Amino acid sequence: MPYIAPLNNLIENLRALPGIGAKTAARLAYHILDMDKEKATALAAAIIAAKEKIGYCKVCFNLSDQDPCQICAATGRDRSVICVVEQPQDVAAMERMRDFNGLYHVLHGSLSPLEGIGPEDLRIKELLERLAGEEVKEVIMATNPNVEGEATAMYLARLIKPLGVKVTRIAHGLPIGGDLEYADEVTLSKAMENRREI
Ligand SMILES: [Zn+2]
Repeated sequence: MPYIAPLNNLIENLRALPGIGAKTAARLAYHILDMDKEKATALAAAIIAAKEKIGYCKVCFNLSDQDPCQICAATGRDRSVICVVEQPQDVAAMERMRDFNGLYHVLHGSLSPLEGIGPEDLRIKELLERLAGEEVKEVIMATNPNVEGEATAMYLARLIKPLGVKVTRIAHGLPIGGDLEYADEVTLSKAMENRREI
């Protein structure tokens, strides 16, 4: 690398981020060096503060700066419905839609034998514990509409149905192979409305 050491270090750290190749990392690093000192310091401080203040809610495993999170702690939400999603970003997408008033459970991934991700790598045990302890009547599978997401929904349905809890799957209409996170609010709202029992 033809860069001086601190610059090289910055580039290497940026390169470790998803979607950032060598060229983009170098461009960002030069941009950061060009920034006012206060702005660069604020960027570094924001990263540190986010890492220190944000953790996982011990109930739903969404990202939160309080435990339980705001959604789990809210009194006005319907505690009989749990919407199961893959990632915290999916909770944010659902909340933007505004018409879901139940609770969530974040799995932190989906089953993927090819990548060696099994049930024990996801927050499945914790979901089953919630179903035993709470008055849950319906679990909505809102995993991504791709092979892993479908397999995860089916796997969970097999575990949950014997507990006497209704299991539904959000409707297609979401782009197949897509990410829930990037679905627009109308599509997501329709997918929830047209969910079917599995
Ligand atoms: Zn929570």
